Amino acid sequence: MAGVPVLLFKEGTSRSTGRDALRNNILAARTLAEMLRSSLGPKGLDKMLIDSFNDVTITNDGATIVKEMEIQHPAAKLLVEAAKAQDAEVGDGTTSAVVLAGLLLEKAEALLDQNVHPTIIIEGYKKAFNKALELLTQISTKIDVKNLQDPAVKANLKKIVYTTMASKFIAESEAEMNKIMDIIIDAVSKVAEPLPNGGYNVSLDLVKIDKKKGGTIEDSILVHGLVLDKEVVHPGMPRRVEKAKIAVLDAALEVEKPEISAKISITSPEQIKSFLDEETKYLKEMVDKLASIGANVVVCQKGIDDIAQHFLAKKGILAVRRVKRSDIEKLEKALGARIISSIKDATPEDLGYAELVEERRIGNDKMVFIEGAKNPRAVNILLRGSNDMALDEAERSINDALHALRNILLEPMIVPGGGAIEVELAMKLREYARTVGGKEQLAIEAYADALEEIPSILAETAGMEPISTLMDLRARHVKGIANAGVDVINGKIVDDMFSINVLEPVRVKRQVLKSSTEAATSVLKIDDLIAASQLKS
Ligand code: ADP
Repeated sequence: MAGVPVLLFKEGTSRSTGRDALRNNILAARTLAEMLRSSLGPKGLDKMLIDSFNDVTITNDGATIVKEMEIQHPAAKLLVEAAKAQDAEVGDGTTSAVVLAGLLLEKAEALLDQNVHPTIIIEGYKKAFNKALELLTQISTKIDVKNLQDPAVKANLKKIVYTTMASKFIAESEAEMNKIMDIIIDAVSKVAEPLPNGGYNVSLDLVKIDKKKGGTIEDSILVHGLVLDKEVVHPGMPRRVEKAKIAVLDAALEVEKPEISAKISITSPEQIKSFLDEETKYLKEMVDKLASIGANVVVCQKGIDDIAQHFLAKKGILAVRRVKRSDIEKLEKALGARIISSIKDATPEDLGYAELVEERRIGNDKMVFIEGAKNPRAVNILLRGSNDMALDEAERSINDALHALRNILLEPMIVPGGGAIEVELAMKLREYARTVGGKEQLAIEAYADALEEIPSILAETAGMEPISTLMDLRARHVKGIANAGVDVINGKIVDDMFSINVLEPVRVKRQVLKSSTEAATSVLKIDDLIAASQLKS
């Protein structure tokens, strides 16, 4: 009897299974990774991305590239996820993570050709990853960050900041670069909180960055407190308040306008007066309430009506309005305040504290400086620069440098960059592979091969011959020169990457291994790709 056909999928659904599906997925993921290859390292090339609105982005930052590319293929999306995880966890190493995931898949494909089953490859990769983590901890060099005020410690941190910024930030002068680096290090040492492991926790949300056009990068300053890009609202208000008790409002100091247009019939001038009197009375009550709880500064997320401004000025209260929500939240944290949503319920405990609130002129504008905040760890970098592009670029590299410092301080261990750590790990993983044996040995060796492609790619971007460079590096590592790597800037091999300040926080490297191994093994796990038919647009 002929069987009744079972219809499992909707018509038009495409399905590929087993090796076909796997090859397909590997191809898609590798294609993405190969696009990023040439962007790796300080001589990496830029990509020009044009989105559906014709907006152009030019960048060599892996995170930005994969975010902008609108990847469709589900397997390639797994690599995008790896980049996102990398960015979220450590804020650095995204290009490396995607490129390494692609390399792991490339090597896996060669094993599939030799009839090694995907589950064996996955097992081998997992073993190699765990061993690599173990080795990483053994190999990494501890750096002394005990006393962040110590000039020697600062000088060391400055080297790390320099490495992160040098490839991206085009400073006009050495003085500019120095100024920015000093600001970054001061900012981070201010917000750093000691941890039991000898490192520090650095909450980057305590570091606010504001950009103000005008002047040069060298005019940038670090404010120990917060800056609001706003003027004091009324000429009759004080410009400077010491021992400030600050009400942080997200309610408006205005009479609420009715949502729906209401019709009020007024038939006599007295009625207009009493109507306006009502409004005035309401606003005066609000201001009186704020004064009664002891506020001498009011920072408001919403508007402050003219009449309210007048009453505030009469009470000698300094006020600013229309402050960004993100700033309001930062103020709450920095000043030890509670955001007031209903003024009539406000209490003295809601107020925040700062030694000084003062309006100052910056270029052609006025800004309000809040210094000596209750939480002394809040800082504000006020960036100056001649144009928006310079400011944006400076902000991006400052963010990178802040992340790099955070990674170092959280776990004060570094490894040599320029492919040195990859060659060392690969060498040791091969030794380990021999102790494992069997087909898994092949997979562990493939993992080592993938790692070694990193120095080859870096060599390529520097115009060096990739194969002979790798051979030379291997020979040096076998001799025990564990920090030998590629100096991409000068196109040569260097025995100690630390001596030219090319180093990476161990935290970043560990995450690169983790994100890439996870992405590669998840692609290898899929043996069935079922795609619904695409809707025709
Ligand atoms: P990612 O997004 O992964 O951080 P980058 O483009 O910043 O990508 O490249 C990082 C790689 O470049 C790391 O392997 C790092 O060690 C290496 N690198 C950075 N600067 C240099 C240099 N001056 N010489 C050699 N390698 C470098």
